[in-house]
Amino acid sequence: MEYNIALLKGDGIGPEIVDSAVKVLEKIGEKFGHKFNFTPYLIGGCAIDEVGEPLPKETVDGCLASDSVLLGAVGGYKWDNLSGDKRPEKALLGIRSALGLFTNLRPAKLYPALKEASPLRQDIVSKGFDLLIVRELTGGIYFGERGYRDGKYGNEAYDTEAYSEMEIKRIAKVAFETAMKRNKNLISIDKANVLETSRLWRKIMHETAKDYPEVTLTDMLVDNGAMQLVKNPQQFDVVVTSNMFGDILSDEASQITGSIGMLPSASLGETKRGMYEPIHGSAPDIAGQNKANPIATILSAGMMLRYSFDLQTEADAIEKAVDSVLEKGYRTADLVGDSGITPLSCTEMTDKILEEI
Ligand code: NAD
Repeated sequence: MEYNIALLKGDGIGPEIVDSAVKVLEKIGEKFGHKFNFTPYLIGGCAIDEVGEPLPKETVDGCLASDSVLLGAVGGYKWDNLSGDKRPEKALLGIRSALGLFTNLRPAKLYPALKEASPLRQDIVSKGFDLLIVRELTGGIYFGERGYRDGKYGNEAYDTEAYSEMEIKRIAKVAFETAMKRNKNLISIDKANVLETSRLWRKIMHETAKDYPEVTLTDMLVDNGAMQLVKNPQQFDVVVTSNMFGDILSDEASQITGSIGMLPSASLGETKRGMYEPIHGSAPDIAGQNKANPIATILSAGMMLRYSFDLQTEADAIEKAVDSVLEKGYRTADLVGDSGITPLSCTEMTDKILEEI
């Protein structure tokens, strides 16, 4: 098959890590008989420098015309003093909304080989864990009515949360479909003991469950969910939750893996086209030094194969190659800690992964 991929390399380490992912996709194409066509577009600080705005129309049009989008990261010291809507990071919200991406998939995997990196006690993480958070991305309290008004005690600020049945139904479907691709175990996190939106959330999750009899659905309150993540992260396979709860829990989940350079993400909408990116930023402190860990971006490319192109075997091949280099003890600088291991550069790590594929 042939696929057209828009490349948004962005700033800082963005170009280095996207180049690594491109090499991996080319190797997968060679091995499994696919053709990936890559077209680069400007985004973020480099777009401001070249054309005066962080998200040029050509970039949006190019992404809309592609089968999928691979993003590095945006931002850096050079643009830190620009005002809000001129900043590189503004382009991220713009491109997500232009592509209609309402779901964010954030896996958090602790590889047994990297268990020392986790801030959790070793008896909790000794077997590693592998969970995926499905976060609703375009509704809820971040998008509800807000403002200031005269309240009981004078001037007060307010934000409101609203979720329609349609918004919950469509994220529920993504969550159940995702669970079907993994271990068929879905935990829905809400605050149904207090919030009306959560009660509707829970009702729709259970209605949707009837269409997926193979998936086990469990409800969990968000306060308990936050505790269970640090107490027993192995119990989670797929988690589905609202925008704000997902924002908080996905950062908690990423922190307990202890390694920001390892974690990919996917944003999906109604169509198969998604946007795939590492969860970390542009790391300006190490940009241009060939020190970045390319694994989060390589795994993001793997998610693209799995979720946009339905190429499960090919996605598995990328994940297995990453597992294998870690098992063999190869590490980039961010992962060595005080182990005494000599770190590999970004390109050396990429080459090791290519060898394993
Ligand atoms: P960051 O994630 O860029 O860096 C945090 C720390 O982690 C740094 O020490 C960095 O060197 C290290 N790090 C991050 N990714 C790494 C990798 N792949 N390999 C090795 N080390 C890695 O976060 P920050 O420093 O808060 O932000 C830097 C810039 O990135 C800012 O301009 C911020 O706005 C932007 N940012 C962009 C995105 C995005 O594009 N999606 C996300 C977060 C931050």
